[in-house]
Amino acid sequence: MDFRLTDEQELFVAGVRDLMESENWEQYFVECDNNHEYPERWVKALAELGVDTMLLPEEHDGMGMDMVTLTAIWEELGRHGAPTYVLYQLPGFNTILRHGTQEQIDTIFAFRGTGKQMWNSAITEPSAGSDVGSLKTNYTRKDGKVYLNGQKCFITSSLHAPYLVVMARDSASEKPIFTEWFVDMSKEGVKLNPLDKLGLRMDSCCEIVFDNVELEEKDMFGTEGNGFNRVKAEFDDERFLVACTNYGVALCAYEDAAKYANQRVQFGETIGRTQLIQEKFAHMAIKLNSMKNMLFETAWKTDQGTATSGDSAMCKYFCANASFEVIDTSMQVLGGIGVTGHRVARFWRDLRIDRLSGGSDEMQILTLGRAELKKYR
Ligand SMILES: Cc1cc2nc3c(=O)[nH]c(=O)nc-3n(C[C@H](O)[C@H](O)[C@H](O)COP(=O)(O)OP(=O)(O)OC[C@H]3O[C@@H](n4cnc5c(N)ncnc54)[C@H](O)[C@@H]3O)c2cc1C
Repeated sequence: MDFRLTDEQELFVAGVRDLMESENWEQYFVECDNNHEYPERWVKALAELGVDTMLLPEEHDGMGMDMVTLTAIWEELGRHGAPTYVLYQLPGFNTILRHGTQEQIDTIFAFRGTGKQMWNSAITEPSAGSDVGSLKTNYTRKDGKVYLNGQKCFITSSLHAPYLVVMARDSASEKPIFTEWFVDMSKEGVKLNPLDKLGLRMDSCCEIVFDNVELEEKDMFGTEGNGFNRVKAEFDDERFLVACTNYGVALCAYEDAAKYANQRVQFGETIGRTQLIQEKFAHMAIKLNSMKNMLFETAWKTDQGTATSGDSAMCKYFCANASFEVIDTSMQVLGGIGVTGHRVARFWRDLRIDRLSGGSDEMQILTLGRAELKKYR
């Protein structure tokens, strides 16, 4: 496997680096994090470079780029401390293109280049977390209309995203039939209750009640009964992106800590000259190198069409945990500074959530174990 980026990929990464060095984005991220605000100005600036449509095929005015390029971009953004977790909706253009009606595609594609939030997927419910098959939100057909009833929880972006793709079961069927619906969030009967998160504060998270929300047949997303198959395929991409995000900020924390260790003098020498601190950097470097290799290998396999759910589960589990350890150790190296307003403290809060959201650590281990044993059946 050749790990070198092509000239075109290098150029794209350099453009992203220039953007990140063009102003003090960190100050903007701190403001957004403190105010629980989506960093729309930054996302718009990325969209101007084409990052929002980089995966879209060229015939749809995208850049037709692959997952290896996306991994390199996420790495560069992450190492500058950027909140790539708010970008999960961007690969969503491809999802809409694959499964949406022409009207849904036109609606979402109107957001291209704006940096604005557009849609997200709503599956989780109070009684259906890891066990998504036990969800109760339902749809009922009556007099040519469709009525949505139920409750979702922990739904990212839902406070400001104008559309949600909501998973629901057919109330008329004894057998579980799960179908997704493209819901305009301004509709009557949609009630939001924002939640206060430990981290990932530049994006919202809400409980949502759907109280007899009136829909049309044309609002169906994908085909009837195919909801689970659709999200299963998307989960792999989402988990891989979470892993890339985790690795990126771990790299940022590590570099911050390394610069500090080479400057900070205690007991007459820089702390980087002490063996206890050197040992920390050795362990962090091993974790970062392992994450990088795993991510680029999985991106490459995804581009070849050979990646499995086991690969994305391995990336998500390993990167969430290894990044958390790297960030925690970097915080230790930074001493008091690390816990009093430094960006590593933000990463630390953010990373803790990623061991749960998008599928918990335990679910990744179960998925990976199953995928491994399947290879030898
Ligand atoms: C900040 C945040 C954002 C989110 N965004 C979205 C979103 O946009 N859309 C969406 O649909 N969902 C979203 N989720 C939901 C997320 O995917 C679920 O929270 C996650 O799957 C876990 O569900 P739960 O919290 O109900 O935990 P539970 O499923 O109740 O699990 C609790 C604990 O038990 C463990 N556990 C459960 N079953 C088993 C088992 N069989 N074996 C071993 N351990 C087990 C879990 O791993 C976990 O540690 C989000 C969650 C968070 C926290």
